[in-house]
Amino acid sequence: MEHLLSKEDLDFRARCQAYARDELRPLAKQLGEIDDVPEALRTSLRDSGLYGPLYPKAFGGQGLSAVRICLAREAMAGVFAPADTTYAMQGLGGYPIVLAGSEEQKQRFLPELAAGRRLTTFCLTEPEAGSDVSALQTTAMDAGDHFVVNGRKRFISNGFSADMGILFARTPLADKPNAISAFIVEKSMAGWNVDKRLALMASHDIVAFEIKDLRVPRTHLLGPVGGGFKLAMQTLDLMRMSVGAAALGMAQTALTESLRYSQARVQFGQPIVAFQSTAFKLADMAVEIEAARGLVYRAALKKDRGAADASYHSSIAKLYATEAAFRCIDQAVQIHGGVGVLRGSTVERLYREIRPLRVYEGTTEIQKVIIANHLLKAEKQKRK
Ligand SMILES: Cc1cc2nc3c(=O)[nH]c(=O)nc-3n(C[C@H](O)[C@H](O)[C@H](O)COP(=O)(O)OP(=O)(O)OC[C@H]3O[C@@H](n4cnc5c(N)ncnc54)[C@H](O)[C@@H]3O)c2cc1C
Repeated sequence: MEHLLSKEDLDFRARCQAYARDELRPLAKQLGEIDDVPEALRTSLRDSGLYGPLYPKAFGGQGLSAVRICLAREAMAGVFAPADTTYAMQGLGGYPIVLAGSEEQKQRFLPELAAGRRLTTFCLTEPEAGSDVSALQTTAMDAGDHFVVNGRKRFISNGFSADMGILFARTPLADKPNAISAFIVEKSMAGWNVDKRLALMASHDIVAFEIKDLRVPRTHLLGPVGGGFKLAMQTLDLMRMSVGAAALGMAQTALTESLRYSQARVQFGQPIVAFQSTAFKLADMAVEIEAARGLVYRAALKKDRGAADASYHSSIAKLYATEAAFRCIDQAVQIHGGVGVLRGSTVERLYREIRPLRVYEGTTEIQKVIIANHLLKAEKQKRK
């Protein structure tokens, strides 16, 4: 798949890798495990100029590119997962504006996001609505020049540090009682409050929100009333494959660490890589990583070329790459023996960091539902 990337994409990848190596690696060491976005990380990401591929050129970006989002996430996640999360959230919380924003909304918000001057987030999940997005209970009642929003949100990444976000709420219409709409919300608005900071098994800025009588001006309605569900799904379609890319970056680091450790560690008078059981683990990891890379890049290329089945390939890439990365990292822990479960070792950290990727932006099971539905629909169309 790599031979299908343009020279510009490969140059961009080299920039991302250099940034991860020269800037993020020392920053990760300095900051350690974190549950917010410290100023140093905010500034580093802003100055890297890597937010560009998340936004169109007309609004301060470098032109939206799924391939480049994936390349950036692959490079960052293997070195410093919190940087990858913040980067991804600028996409999740910015792409809905690219897709559905009015000219005024785009002019007002996108250049700020593209430059990294503001951080954003994506508020969809609720205590009662996880995989089943249609079960949203947060409501936005039409009050003329504004909406009044009440409800709760849970598992919102970047939620503590974000300056703004995209919020999805039910806007019941007489003919569509279950309509969901999207809104641009800003932290400065009274009523959008962090209820609880959630403690994950690995570094992550993640919170639950309580939304109480939040007045959102009508100018902040994103897209048409009732257009929220489709907008959320379109956004996840693009970003899902990039979760696969992040997993790929983590798996690659696990392989690199395992190659190094298995040659240095001596047992029974020889490096443990001389045991075929160890060498085969390395081979299995390499095969899974190459397969995942192929699927992720294919999904991204399809998205950028406007292929009709891009969403199907996005789910395949997310499912395979996150599951494969988990298997690779588990093998890496095994190769490291006791060191692998020692708090603070790289593979131990990766073991905790990879786990949530099989859950967020649609669990592995939900990806299977999407993939199977696509197959059945295609089969039905063939029979027509
Ligand atoms: C680290 C992290 C970051 C997140 N960031 C965000 C964010 O920024 N914004 C946001 O809105 N949300 C975010 N989420 C929420 C995330 O998208 C949800 O956790 C996810 O969609 C699953 O929902 P749930 O946790 O309620 O699990 P549930 O939906 O309750 O699922 C529980 C289990 O049931 C299975 N299941 C459910 N329905 C089906 C079905 N139809 N068929 C088969 N199996 C099924 C699931 O696969 C899973 O195994 C984040 C979550 C995590 C863990």
